Amino acid sequence: MKEGQSLTYQFRRGNKLEKENKQEGTKGKKFLVPDTSAILTGSVNLLEENIIVPSMVLWEIAKGKAARILREQEEMLKVVKPQESSIVKIREQAEITGDLKYLSETDIEVLAVALESNGKIITNDYSMQNVAKTMGIEFEPCGIEPIKNEIQWSFRCRGCRKIYEENIKECRICGHKVVRFRKVE
Ligand SMILES: [Zn+2]
Repeated sequence: MKEGQSLTYQFRRGNKLEKENKQEGTKGKKFLVPDTSAILTGSVNLLEENIIVPSMVLWEIAKGKAARILREQEEMLKVVKPQESSIVKIREQAEITGDLKYLSETDIEVLAVALESNGKIITNDYSMQNVAKTMGIEFEPCGIEPIKNEIQWSFRCRGCRKIYEENIKECRICGHKVVRFRKVE
């Protein structure tokens, strides 16, 4: 994306993306379609080439705290608006499974984009997963990366820099405040 090109331009790429994906067939990498929470929890690297962002997800995030991060990356994102026919298909199926009342407009759009692009949804939303399952749309849950090792803290005097292993408030040598820091193993 060059500077000055608007998001509406990107939206029009929806059809092109679909064609590209079909042409590539099995040799192409599977598109990943994250929902809003998948992005907000940092479960996906938005700059990976196989990530496509539904336009309403972008819009939801643009209202929130992650807006700045997103703006910085916007030029490099593939933002897609699905066709109305795909939205209708998702709605019909969600009606059948009983999930429609639990789905937001954005949820439906995420599903529709995945349907069009033959992509995989990244979401923890049970209703979205349920509709995806019945339509043969792949999905995987997102989550915050578990902390692999417990954080080890040490404590350091702000005055004389003496390091303590125990959590004390005041340095025994110089009386300055002792603060904790992350021990690097
Ligand atoms: Zn000290």
